[in-house]
Amino acid sequence: MSAKTDPAPGKLAEYRRKRDPGRTPEPVAGAQPAGNDDTFVIQEHHARHLHWDVRLERDGVLVSWAVPKGLPHEPGSVRLAVHTEDHPLEYAGFEGEIPKGEYGAGQMLIWDRGSYETLKWSSNEVEIDLRGKQVQGRYVFFRRGDEWLVRRSDPPQEPDWEPLPKSMAPMLAVKGDLPPAQQDDQWGYEFKWDGVRALGRVDGGRLQLYSRRGGDITRVYPELQPLGEELVNRQLWLDGEVVALRDGKPSFAALQSRMHALDSQATRLSRHDPVTYLIFDLLHLDGHSCLRLPYRERRDLLDSLELDGDRWRTSPTYPGQGAAVLAASREQQLEGAMAKRLDAPYRPGKRSGDWIKITDVLALEVVIGGWRPGEGRRAATFGSLLLGVPEDGGLRYVGHVGTGFSEDVLRGLRAKFNRLERKASPFTTDIPRDRSVGARWLSPKLVGEVVFREWTADRRLRAPAWRGLRPDRDPADIHHEDGS
Ligand code: MN
Repeated sequence: MSAKTDPAPGKLAEYRRKRDPGRTPEPVAGAQPAGNDDTFVIQEHHARHLHWDVRLERDGVLVSWAVPKGLPHEPGSVRLAVHTEDHPLEYAGFEGEIPKGEYGAGQMLIWDRGSYETLKWSSNEVEIDLRGKQVQGRYVFFRRGDEWLVRRSDPPQEPDWEPLPKSMAPMLAVKGDLPPAQQDDQWGYEFKWDGVRALGRVDGGRLQLYSRRGGDITRVYPELQPLGEELVNRQLWLDGEVVALRDGKPSFAALQSRMHALDSQATRLSRHDPVTYLIFDLLHLDGHSCLRLPYRERRDLLDSLELDGDRWRTSPTYPGQGAAVLAASREQQLEGAMAKRLDAPYRPGKRSGDWIKITDVLALEVVIGGWRPGEGRRAATFGSLLLGVPEDGGLRYVGHVGTGFSEDVLRGLRAKFNRLERKASPFTTDIPRDRSVGARWLSPKLVGEVVFREWTADRRLRAPAWRGLRPDRDPADIHHEDGS
C-alpha cells in the first residue's frame, strides 16, 4: 500500500462522526494509503456484545461487517453479518482497548489478517476467497431484505471436520453399589452433586444451556454466560451439574428459587444467589465428536481446557479411589458418589451400567395428586401434599409430605394449585381415610422430589421431606429403578 490523498472523503464521514480522536486510540483517517483491494482483517471485538469485525479493503477503505458469532466453519451454517460503516485502511493494524463510554468500548484483537481475492462484488452479494493464517476459503456475504448474512461456500477447512451437533441428550446412570475393590482400576469416581443436570453448547463465544429433557435454560443462569466468552473461538459441548453452593455444599433448596426465574428476575437473583456450573464431561471439541472416546480420554481433554472460573469449574475425577470418594462424600454429607467405567464411551440419552450412582439418600420423583389445608401459620398455604407415583397406567398413592418447605416454597406451590383443582381424586389406589377426608384434589401435573428413609411394608414413604419441584420433568418421564 502506498500513501496518497483520500480518494473518497465522504466514505469515512460516518466513521469520523462516531469517534472523538482525543478519546479513542483507534486510527484517525488522514491521508490514506491505497492498496490493491486485496487485504483483509478480522478483529475479535469484546464490546458489550462479542463479535468479529470482518473488514475487506475496497476502493481505499475497509468495507466492514460485524459478525456476532464469527465466520462459520462449515457450509451448512448461515450467520448474521451486520453491515457497519467503512473504516480507514489503517484500522487493519489496530489492536487495543477502546475506553469505556466510547463507541465500541472494549478490547479489540486482531484474530486474523491476510490477503483475499474478490470473486464477486455487487450491492447485494460479495463473494471472496480468504487467505489468512486462521481462515482459508470462500465466503459469501449476501443481502436478505435489510439483513446481511454470511456463509462458507467451500467445504470445511479440515476435511474431517464434524459439525457441532444442534442438540445433545445426557447419558444417565443406574443406581447401585460401589464396584468391588479389585475392579477399582477400571473405574473413575466423582462426587455426586445435588443440583440440576445441564448440557452446555459453546459456539461463537456464546454458551447455551439445556436441561436433562432438552429445554433451553440459558436465560435462567445469566451468570454462566462469561464461560462462553472464555471459550471464544472454540466449539464444544459440555456436561455438568448446576448447583447452588451454601457453605461450600450444594443445596437443592437454595437452587429452587433460581429454577423458575427468567430474564430480569434471573439477572437480579444471579447477583445475590449465583449458581456454579460443575463440569464433568466433554462431548464435542472443535470439529470432533468426543462421544466415541473412552471416559478417561474425554476427562483428559476436559482437564486440558482448564475450566476454572468464579462461577464454573471442572469437577474432579478420582480413578481407582471408590472407597475414599464415597467415604469423603459421607463425611462431607454430600449426596454420594458416581462410578464411571474408564473405557466407556458416552451414550447420549441412554441409561447405562457404565455409570453407577452410589447414594445413601433415597430420593424419589413424585407427582402431587392433592393437598390438605394447614392450620396456624400454615393456614394461608397448605398443611401437606398427597403424593403418588405413576404405575400400571394409574397413579399409586405413596404417602404425604408436610416438612421441608420454606415459606417461599409454600406460597409458590399454593399459587399453582388453583388452576389444577379437580373434584375427584387422581389416585387409582386406596388412601387412608384420615388423609382423604378434607383433601383437595389436583390434576396430576406437578412433579417434585422427596427424600425419605425407607419404604414401609405397605409400600409407602417413611419420613419423607420435600426437596422441591422438578420443572424439568414430566409425569410421563418418571423412571423408578429402585425401592418399591
Ligand atoms: Mn466492532
